[in-house]
Amino acid sequence: MFYDLHIHSALSPCADNDMTANNIINMAKLKGLDLIAICDHNSVKQQLAISKVAKEKGIDLLYGIEIQTKEEVHVLAYFNKLEDCLAFGNEIETLRLKIKNEPRYFGDQLILDANDEIVTIEEWLLIASLELDLDQLTWMIHQYHGVVVLAHVLDRINGIIQQLGFIPQTLVFDGIEIKSEDQRSLLIKQYPWLSDKVWLINSDAHSLDQISDAKNMLTKQDLLNLWRNVT
Ligand SMILES: [Zn+2]
Ligand SMILES: [Zn+2]
Repeated sequence: MFYDLHIHSALSPCADNDMTANNIINMAKLKGLDLIAICDHNSVKQQLAISKVAKEKGIDLLYGIEIQTKEEVHVLAYFNKLEDCLAFGNEIETLRLKIKNEPRYFGDQLILDANDEIVTIEEWLLIASLELDLDQLTWMIHQYHGVVVLAHVLDRINGIIQQLGFIPQTLVFDGIEIKSEDQRSLLIKQYPWLSDKVWLINSDAHSLDQISDAKNMLTKQDLLNLWRNVT
């Protein structure tokens, strides 16, 4: 199935305000995608609306979030069940630094319903680090039956290699996000033990036009592999 598992909604301050559940899913369908995930920064408050619209319009969905750890590393978490994702999100709420968002500087943080109407506005800034280090976070995601994917590992900003200088072999994670196949060969040369991870190429779309075309494929087996270490 064609996928894009890293799309931001209007809840992320850095994403466009027209990244609503309906707009994202209509665009994903137009592009020919079969499976998507919305991963907002440090919040799952858009997942309920997304799940309603995905069911209505018939597209497969993983529930997701993009978390920033104490080390300022971005980590994606995916869940098969909405309840697990929402429960995880509740715990995340308690671990966020309470800094008020300044919309004029960072952008709006809109929580929308399944009709794309604004339900409320998230007042706490979502793009700050959590009070949680990488090991604590990966442990916690697995406790909620989620899987851990290191986000945009070769990016200059908030990728694990930029922040730590390397990928620790002791870190417990399930997948790795890259931007191209070239990045995969580069990484495997340096870290051969990464070859048994699940590799994802996502858009990290912050606007509708950035959502992936139907070009990256995952099989059912790839998804099983992603969850193979999770009970
Ligand atoms: Zn990121
Ligand atoms: Zn992102």
